[in-house]
Amino acid sequence: MKVTAIGRYGKYPNKDGATCCYLIESAQTKIVLDMGSASLKNLDKVIDYKHIDAVVVSHFHGDHCADAFVFRNVAFEFIKTGVWDTKLPFFMPKEPYNEFMALKSCEGFQTIEISDGLKTAIKDIDLEFFKVNHPLPTYAVKVSSNEKSLSYTADIMDKENLDRLFLGADFAIVDACILEKNHKQGLPHISVKEIAYITKDIPKVMLAHLEYGKEEETLQEALSQNKNAFLAEELKTYHI
Ligand SMILES: [Zn+2]
Ligand SMILES: [Zn+2]
Repeated sequence: MKVTAIGRYGKYPNKDGATCCYLIESAQTKIVLDMGSASLKNLDKVIDYKHIDAVVVSHFHGDHCADAFVFRNVAFEFIKTGVWDTKLPFFMPKEPYNEFMALKSCEGFQTIEISDGLKTAIKDIDLEFFKVNHPLPTYAVKVSSNEKSLSYTADIMDKENLDRLFLGADFAIVDACILEKNHKQGLPHISVKEIAYITKDIPKVMLAHLEYGKEEETLQEALSQNKNAFLAEELKTYHI
């Protein structure tokens, strides 16, 4: 498998970048994890949309789903014109209701509600979902194929379910947006220091959901705990 970082920022993108979006590719399958703000303009540079096999939206904060509400226009057109002969599997939480229904109503999507422990497969990729703590219902996902696995935290405010998520992981994409010095109990995100320490035994740890302007400080804080950490670079592809 390989993963391309499409959008590496949390909260909002910078002028050239995008928020959370990752393209996972195996021998047979292409899955998009999250479709944050400005992600489509990057995604379009690396894949023809008609080759996408499934989309996962981890939760309904805009930095993870904003462009999904635009991508529904693509899906509607593709199903109407026969570019796709079947609806696109589209995984998402069933709450908040209004956001869920806005995407579910798209004729081009085959909606699949995510729940904790859900296991499913898209061709040669296995997906397993884990509920994590964050202000909205949010799901981390483990993506596995050909005996390799990638774990994506989405947004996490503590360690809940991370042991299940990271079990046997070869590669992790982690929420790394709050430096330890700025972290307080009850914030919606874990600190960079803590997530870096938790993942120190995973061979490759991609720092993502970055805060614009804090990239280098984030990297240094993570490296103090974890020699396998590196910053996500947009449009760069990594082998798992
Ligand atoms: Zn976020
Ligand atoms: Zn969030």
